[in-house]
Amino acid sequence: MIRPDLLLHPTPKGLYCPPGDFYIDPVRGAVDRAVVTHGHADHARAGHGSVLATPDTLAIMAARYGAQFTASRQPLAFGETVNISGVSVSFAPAGHILGSAQVIVEWKGLRIVNTGDYKRRTDPTCRPFEVVPNTHIFISEATFGLPVFRHPDDRGEIAKLLSSVRLFPEKTHLVGVYSLGKAQRVIALLREAGWDSPLYIHGALEKLCTLYQSRGVDLGSLVPATDIDDKARFRGQIVLAPPSAFAQKWGQRFADPVLAFASGWMSVRQRAKQRGVELPLILSDHADWDELTDTICDVDPEEVWVTYGREDALVRWAELEGRKARPLRLVGYEDEGD
Ligand SMILES: [Zn+2]
Repeated sequence: MIRPDLLLHPTPKGLYCPPGDFYIDPVRGAVDRAVVTHGHADHARAGHGSVLATPDTLAIMAARYGAQFTASRQPLAFGETVNISGVSVSFAPAGHILGSAQVIVEWKGLRIVNTGDYKRRTDPTCRPFEVVPNTHIFISEATFGLPVFRHPDDRGEIAKLLSSVRLFPEKTHLVGVYSLGKAQRVIALLREAGWDSPLYIHGALEKLCTLYQSRGVDLGSLVPATDIDDKARFRGQIVLAPPSAFAQKWGQRFADPVLAFASGWMSVRQRAKQRGVELPLILSDHADWDELTDTICDVDPEEVWVTYGREDALVRWAELEGRKARPLRLVGYEDEGD
């Protein structure tokens, strides 16, 4: 078997594949050829010569950066394979956000799978994570790569929000959500839980919610949250906005608000407190500790490479399990959609 770092190795610009001459999620500067796992800003940047990604990810990048975000869009659907100078590249669903993919790179009998960001829980807005069999090198993200991170059931978190709405019908519930992925997932989970009324959204969420709907994700009736000074209109309602909006004038005009925030980091009490969040909702689009370790066992690779987050604990865990493991020390990734 060839040495795996001949096929993929870390560089300051991101993971580089010398035989295929492409980068996966290049993080610094423009490159000729990029393979992009998903649309979050730290993974998907504008200006590359060509971008190979799933059709949904390309649509997300075009919506965020404009149609000219790359000179050449190369859509690759799940299940299809493309040959780049003898390296075969394909995608498997990652379950992180709409369009999110694990990248499968194969060359001379060696198969490397890079998860990008991923989670294992069901998410009504994207395809579930798939275990890729016969993986030699498994590159795992580690955003929540510490044993203290164990995310509760997401339906339970949504139930908390809805019981607060029932308990305080005179108040407006303001829910902080990141604009790509989290917003649409929270909306879809609210719909699943039976919330049929219109949901009010900040203008910064409109474009991506419309895009999700146009790509077949049903979010129900969404209404722009304008005319905030009409206090009665928002009593008993749920308003979603990027977390930063609630600190601005816009967010401070709601009468009797209850401030909620949907994020994996809400399991850290101090973070909720710092932001003045009264109703922390622990909803993450990343694997928690159990999902990370279970997934490594499910994939059962010959070697684990750990990146995008807290690398050391997961490397240590893998070694204690008798697995070969190494941290990749890639820099520049700070996920916008935790
Ligand atoms: Zn992400």
